[in-house]
Amino acid sequence: MAELTSHMKELIALAQEHQTPYASLIIGPDDNILAKAPNRVKQDTDATSHAEMNVIRMASNITGNANLAGCHLITTCEPCPMCAAAIYWSGIRRVTYGLSIPEIMEAGHDQLPGRIDEITRADQNGLQISGGLMAAEVRALFG
Ligand SMILES: [Zn+2]
Repeated sequence: MAELTSHMKELIALAQEHQTPYASLIIGPDDNILAKAPNRVKQDTDATSHAEMNVIRMASNITGNANLAGCHLITTCEPCPMCAAAIYWSGIRRVTYGLSIPEIMEAGHDQLPGRIDEITRADQNGLQISGGLMAAEVRALFG
């Protein structure tokens, strides 16, 4: 738990640095950070450049493997349906997030309302999903 908190603090700092509430990192099977990335939709002029998509691409480039089984994705906000699908296809089976999609919507950001546990049918597919990590601190990123 102390390690998770430390990873989330690192993500919050990365998000602040890039003036976005969205940042993600992937922990490799060896427990070290494999990659981290903020949302880069504006910079990349790419609607798919969400933090989770970026960090999955980076981790696969680094490992030379599209399959990221054994990795753990940590992200400031609950992954949207696009990212939830990408997480599923990447083989990542553990996800930890801060703020939930309903909370992001309450904070005034547009979101597709699909929840990651419903989209990935988490239980059936062995996905371990946990939310609410430092949610108040992440909420503060929305101003
Ligand atoms: Zn997304």
